[in-house]
Amino acid sequence: MENEVLFSDLGVSEEILKAVEDMGYTHPSPIQSQTIPFLLEGSDVIGQAQTGTGKTAAFAIPIIDRINPAFNKPQALVLCPTRELAVQVEGEIVKLTKFKKKISSTCIYGGESIDRQIRSLKKGVQIVVGTPGRIMDHMDRGTLNLNHVSIIVLDEADEMLDMGFREDIETILSDMPEERQTVFFSATMPKPILDLTRKYQNNPEIVKVLKKELTVENISQFYFETKTALKTDLISRLINLHQYKLSVVFCNTKRTTDEVTEELVSKGVSAEALHGDLSQAQRSKVMNKFRKGHCAVLVATDVAARGIDVDNVEAVFNYDLPLDEENYVHRIGRTGRAGKSGTAISFVTGRRDHGRLRDLERFIKTSIDKAAPPSVDELIQ
Ligand code: ADP
Ligand code: MG
Repeated sequence: MENEVLFSDLGVSEEILKAVEDMGYTHPSPIQSQTIPFLLEGSDVIGQAQTGTGKTAAFAIPIIDRINPAFNKPQALVLCPTRELAVQVEGEIVKLTKFKKKISSTCIYGGESIDRQIRSLKKGVQIVVGTPGRIMDHMDRGTLNLNHVSIIVLDEADEMLDMGFREDIETILSDMPEERQTVFFSATMPKPILDLTRKYQNNPEIVKVLKKELTVENISQFYFETKTALKTDLISRLINLHQYKLSVVFCNTKRTTDEVTEELVSKGVSAEALHGDLSQAQRSKVMNKFRKGHCAVLVATDVAARGIDVDNVEAVFNYDLPLDEENYVHRIGRTGRAGKSGTAISFVTGRRDHGRLRDLERFIKTSIDKAAPPSVDELIQ
């Protein structure tokens, strides 16, 4: 019972209360209870909390309650770093508007025919969710008009900047009405984001929900000391031993991602690679397969997998240790979502890895224990 606040304490509408109940959310998460009241009153907000802490509903709920259902023009814009995230965010909005029939939303992203998007924009929608490039494309074509947008949310802002969207974001922000609410949500707040917030926000309320009390706590973390050549074998054995239904394996390069996928498949593990060289269509296909449990292992690079919300990921493997500490938190945050428990297993090879492991422990203020390799007896059961 980390928090006794109820959704009904936050000032949200009856329709939202019914919708969250329908979705099975009994209590608001800390980032939700701390940002929703500010957002409902119209303040600019910077919301920082780890992945898996419910940031989507934190901004989606106030957006839904603040827009005018009788006016059929875009009033809220949500920018997301990837198509997958945009689709997830819009999906959450659809669920949250279940009892507000007059509110409609649409999703706009690259890699999909622009005609469907133009048609859906023409029909009149109040909430537009999309990736920056395609949003700009529609602005240029005149098919998306931001004149009536009064709320803009930059979701996973750190990710968007990492992916090189800064210029697009600035163009979009500069093209919007000055009278507006500007909202940033992010797992981390590096300096480039703070620069943006200073430039485009007005006296923002800053809400930080610190890591310690969150996801990392219900994730058991340990490491194996092993040789590179033995890592995939160990992964497939651990998956069999613990019967992990869904797991994610992180690698530092696209090439390793492909190699590890191939090796796992050759050992009879149903694995798929997810990295930036795949087309949007290929990525969606892989994500859908994984979400439905038609493939058991996603082998991914950091950029491809961050922010992806798949429940029930039981284990995260760090085939390579991440190059920076924040990525470690992002990676292991793929498991243990929404209060469930999860396991994060890292592989350590050589002295440099030991040094990195120490840095990680310092950053997360938690020790990562050494695991004994499973005995042969356990593995052949
Ligand atoms: P973030 O954007 O912070 O990574 P998400 O918004 O994707 O997190 O939410 C993570 C998961 O938690 C999703 O599966 C979502 O449905 C679930 N969730 C969000 N809010 C709540 C809540 N109040 N109670 C229970 N589950 C929630
Ligand atoms: Mg999110």
